[in-house]
Amino acid sequence: MIPFATDRLFIAGEWREAAGRESLALENPSDGADLARIARGGATDIDRAVGAAREALAGAWGAMSAAERGRVLAAMGRLVLERADELARLEALDVGKPLKQAKADALALARYLEFYGGAADKLTGETIPYQRGYTVLTLREPYGVTGHIVPWNYPMQIIGRSVGAALAAGNAAVLKPAEEACLTALAFARIAAAAGLPPGALNLVTGLGEEAGAALASHPGIDHLSFTGSVATGALVQAAAAKNVAPVTLELGGKSPQLVFADADLDAALPYLVNAGIQNAGQTCSAASRILVQRPVYASVQQRMAERYRALRAGPALADLDLGPLVSARQQEIVERYLRLARDNRLVMAASGEIVADAPRGGHYLRPALIADVPPEHALAQEEIFGPVQVLIPFDDEAQAIAIANGTPYGLVAGVWTRDGARQMRLARALRAGQVFVNNYGAGGGVELPFGGVKQSGHGREKGFEALYSFTSLKTVAVLHG
Ligand code: NAD
Repeated sequence: MIPFATDRLFIAGEWREAAGRESLALENPSDGADLARIARGGATDIDRAVGAAREALAGAWGAMSAAERGRVLAAMGRLVLERADELARLEALDVGKPLKQAKADALALARYLEFYGGAADKLTGETIPYQRGYTVLTLREPYGVTGHIVPWNYPMQIIGRSVGAALAAGNAAVLKPAEEACLTALAFARIAAAAGLPPGALNLVTGLGEEAGAALASHPGIDHLSFTGSVATGALVQAAAAKNVAPVTLELGGKSPQLVFADADLDAALPYLVNAGIQNAGQTCSAASRILVQRPVYASVQQRMAERYRALRAGPALADLDLGPLVSARQQEIVERYLRLARDNRLVMAASGEIVADAPRGGHYLRPALIADVPPEHALAQEEIFGPVQVLIPFDDEAQAIAIANGTPYGLVAGVWTRDGARQMRLARALRAGQVFVNNYGAGGGVELPFGGVKQSGHGREKGFEALYSFTSLKTVAVLHG
């Protein structure tokens, strides 16, 4: 196990107690038992972290060349790879994610660090043809101190894509993980130090959203804020940052559809239809929570998905089944409320999976549920449930499919299953989403692929090279030399 004290903050390269000297309990969602204690950081700690980041920019970190920064990130990536099993175990214990899925997250974190490490010295400006006598060029400069507020569902992946890109671009970061999931964030800070990241380049403050998170969002020393989480909190964070006119990237929720046309290769589609709904027990921003199916194949898709659902097993994270528990009793209650609503409204429960008999009583388990014939305007087809619940919606033709797919407040991801090439292209353009996948869903997660939402799914892009642009400010230099 990676040794570190969980109830400390990482500021200026040192592990410090929170100013208020208070701590919070972390729960193991697989059995409800206490797992660790984390420091309850607050405004004073955030202020110190921002100060440490500013000093790092004026010191060793700011003095490093892009190539040197890239080398440090690459070294962090190697350490993450070496410790991927330990990190996966920590994540599984902390958020209840089955081990295999947690391992995939650790490997993705390593990939982000490799990718952004390699990209650090390839971020270039341009020269612009202008009036005679001028040379005009653009410089991509780091914003300065970047804030990163991260949710509990994919801590490693989101830290990798957000902090990794910010550091590669030359910023110094202050990270606030979710209070439900801090262990891999703390391990990440330990790894950064071991890889030689200069003190203050990365600072980590654990604590509550309304305390440490709010203090980070409103801190006047933050030059750019990157928030991943719910729409409601994202709106608060954007409003807080607006007071300082700080730019914000918001990665928010989704109600993403997969559209299955009658000509689709159903054998190929089927695993994607179900997995994209139940991965991480459905607690995924890009979960395919709506499955839209053209009527001629609707009954067959429903029947085949139902068969898969009946075989799904939920149990403790370390048992590594199809699903772990939900992250908290609160999250479980939110999802159960939707299931009660489905029953009260007499929606069709097409199938559900099982909870294994020896699952600990204190864990937050839920039987994954497939619900059929859901009217597109129903709450279950409109709102992000954030649990292992998928709804099936029939459609007649392409125009209706597009209208239903685009008919929610969200626009994060969409999937299309059809063999018709022209339809593939029409749909790719017509669907309002940040990513559209044709005859697949998620493309294996691709760290290279820009990601983000439209409408209430957020704005700004993370992942890929695009994220590096998001973490830089463009300066235009015009030299009049005659
Ligand atoms: P959340 O909004 O409750 O919390 C996210 C983070 O914000 C946490 O670190 C929390 O401590 C912090 N926070 C809470 N209140 C705050 C405040 N007043 N000021 C500043 N920070 C505050 O979200 P969650 O429940 O942790 O995560 C689930 C949500 O995240 C879902 O809606 C999901 O779709 C979304 N999500 C989006 C993406 C994406 O990339 N689009 C990825 C993962 C999760």
